[in-house]
Amino acid sequence: MRRSGIRPSHVALILSMLLAPALYAGQTNPLTVLDGELLTNQAGLPMLKINGREEALSANTPYLLHTLEDKRLAGRQVHLEGIAKPDGTFEAHWLYTVHDGKLYSVRYYCPRCNIVALEPGNCVCCQQPTELQEIPKPANSH
Ligand SMILES: [Zn+2]
Repeated sequence: MRRSGIRPSHVALILSMLLAPALYAGQTNPLTVLDGELLTNQAGLPMLKINGREEALSANTPYLLHTLEDKRLAGRQVHLEGIAKPDGTFEAHWLYTVHDGKLYSVRYYCPRCNIVALEPGNCVCCQQPTELQEIPKPANSH
């Protein structure tokens, strides 16, 4: 008795078509999304812990790399958007912290000078440490 013509290769193709939308936040966003816990390893390099597995992180700008290395963000639940590299690391392009399922942008702010900095460190103006702030992410924007 002949069965219908669905071969395993067809099943795999159909599955990948069904799963593909779940890998992306939306069709307009081609970046890969990773949600996990931000950590730094013993060498101080940023890692993302996902389901008990740790993935090495890099970033497409030094500013974002320094933010990923910020000890104040260690252990935090984060949402990264970026590109999975062939060497197995993940290059982050966008970082958000997650609170109650909502995304927050991270920025560094000097309240004395009213200056926003791109990365952790001292204010370029008064040389005092900047504050880490989390700003609710507006819908459909980075
Ligand atoms: Zn300042």
